[in-house]
Amino acid sequence: MNPGLLSVDDALAQMLSRARPLADVEDVPTLEATGRVLARAQRSTMDVPPLDNSAMDGYAVRVADAQKPLRVAQRIMAGSVGKPLEPGTAARIFTGAPIPPGADAVVMQEHTKADGDRVTINRPPQPGEWIRRVASDIAKGAEILAAGKRLAPQDTGLAASVGIRTLPVYRRLRLGLFFTGDELVMPGEPLAPGRIYNSNRFTLRGLAAAFDCEVRDYGIVPDSLEATREVLRRAARECDVVVTSGGVSVGEGDFVKPAVEAEGQLLMWRIAMKPGRPLAFGNVGSAFFIGLPGNPVSSFVTFLIFVRPFLLKTQGVTDIAPRAIAARADFDWPEPDPRREFLRARWNGEGGLELYPTQDSAVLTSTAWADGLIDNPAAHAIRKGENVRFLPYSELYR
Ligand code: AMP
Ligand code: MG
Repeated sequence: MNPGLLSVDDALAQMLSRARPLADVEDVPTLEATGRVLARAQRSTMDVPPLDNSAMDGYAVRVADAQKPLRVAQRIMAGSVGKPLEPGTAARIFTGAPIPPGADAVVMQEHTKADGDRVTINRPPQPGEWIRRVASDIAKGAEILAAGKRLAPQDTGLAASVGIRTLPVYRRLRLGLFFTGDELVMPGEPLAPGRIYNSNRFTLRGLAAAFDCEVRDYGIVPDSLEATREVLRRAARECDVVVTSGGVSVGEGDFVKPAVEAEGQLLMWRIAMKPGRPLAFGNVGSAFFIGLPGNPVSSFVTFLIFVRPFLLKTQGVTDIAPRAIAARADFDWPEPDPRREFLRARWNGEGGLELYPTQDSAVLTSTAWADGLIDNPAAHAIRKGENVRFLPYSELYR
């Protein structure tokens, strides 16, 4: 590897070794907990289902009785409880209704013939058929949700299914964003020659929202030491983590490095990755600072590779690593970079991956076209048909 460059894994390990879950935990209504990170494991205080119940609309019977026509002695709807089943009788029963004591099977109504208050069973049932057993889903005392999980809609549904009304979650992470560059203007403003639109603001704001951060957006900051220091001080006071784009190279007009050094501590890294390279990591007061390169593809990729896991760990998420897929490359990549590459690729119709035609890190189009990133080892030429390590956006946004 090029001397002076830090590997992606080493940089990430250094960052993660400093990250700690936020100390503050709050109880929120289960109804509003989707997207939040669970701070303590949740156990069920009840059996699910709480009683044996019917998995079908039909008749609850004694298997031993089912050869002869049975008198239908009761009707049991979901939400009601039946009486003990007398020998020689059947109970009309509906899905979810409790099995009456004495019954040992349910016959689905399609296999019966009703005639007045009598029912004939056309197909003899097996013992236990169409009965959902008490506690077969969840036993009382079992853990239903692990600490450190970001709650999906089905998780809050599961919590509610055992009667949990509020959930302890980590406080939302306050993420500060600002964008350095005298050339930046916002869409809607006139684009004078030499100016460019501040696309990073949109990409990074969207990413921050995808990870359920509470965003403080400090907007465009001009390329001056004073302006950069001032917004940095303010953002550090108000946020847990401050992420910026641009100004991390070490050219004239790059003020992030001296500003962070003046206000806090900074590590400046050149990372052995493409796109990416310059990355700043440090702290200002109690806030962490991560300075991403200004190049739109680089800031997008470095957010997903470095900021994402750092934010997740700070948010209290325990399962951080994106799960990669081994996927077939339907292309050749004969001239790899000596650095580890994150190539923009997408699924074709044949279950393989194709590559965006230009991997130039200034081409933001590639990120929108793609379904994810191929994590290609340094200097590795890809040959058509080989399996590559694919990080789908669905994993990187998780
Ligand atoms: P820098 O890292 O500040 O040297 O910026 C690298 C490249 O990214 C330059 O071409 C900048 O114009 C561009 N750039 C910087 N910030 C942004 C931004 N917020 N949105 C879009 N492009 C940017
Ligand atoms: Mg700049």
